[in-house]
Amino acid sequence: METLIFATNNTNKIKEIGSLLDDSFIIKTLQEVGITIEIHEPHDTLEENAIEKAKVIHDLTRENCFAEDTGLAVWALNGEPGVKSARYAGDKRSSEDNIDTLLSKLSDKNDRSASFKTIICLIFNQKQILFEGICKGTIIADRRGKNGFGYDSIFIPDGAGKTFAEMSLTEKNTFSHRKKAFEKLISYLTVQD
Ligand code: IMP
Repeated sequence: METLIFATNNTNKIKEIGSLLDDSFIIKTLQEVGITIEIHEPHDTLEENAIEKAKVIHDLTRENCFAEDTGLAVWALNGEPGVKSARYAGDKRSSEDNIDTLLSKLSDKNDRSASFKTIICLIFNQKQILFEGICKGTIIADRRGKNGFGYDSIFIPDGAGKTFAEMSLTEKNTFSHRKKAFEKLISYLTVQD
């Protein structure tokens, strides 16, 4: 059984990753290992931010760990908000304000295609490995649904017919960028056994 520290303070992400686990893995949260620092995301790419977060926690604990960074890229906005997804409306990191900013910038655009991308950085036995998961979809004009977090209420994955926020966690996981990246991590670790 492998134990990994998940370098995040985001309870929604912990819930999503936790729902994907079987008995072969134990995920410890930062709270569970007594780490209370805020981990910064100072870089211009999801990859660099995921690496930075994993390294900070690895340096502190010397334990196997992983971190992830996720961005929403909107085609008609040249990939915005992308790596700036958490702060699209400013440093308050308010999801509601971020959604309002995005919807207003998209209001005169016909093409509303977008994709979520998750990058996970795993540090396992001192080795650093990156995994990617992408979910393509569409941004709708008004919020729908109450589940999930972030931009979930305005994003309909291709082939779904409803927003992430209208789905249960299990349903979201059939499309989710985070799940696709995490599945690759699990496959990698399974081969290491
Ligand atoms: P970060 O990975 O925590 O930096 O997330 C960047 C931004 O994207 C934040 O505003 C999150 O709320 C949002 N976000 C991350 N993952 C998801 C998701 O699965 N669905 C909707 N929004 C997300």
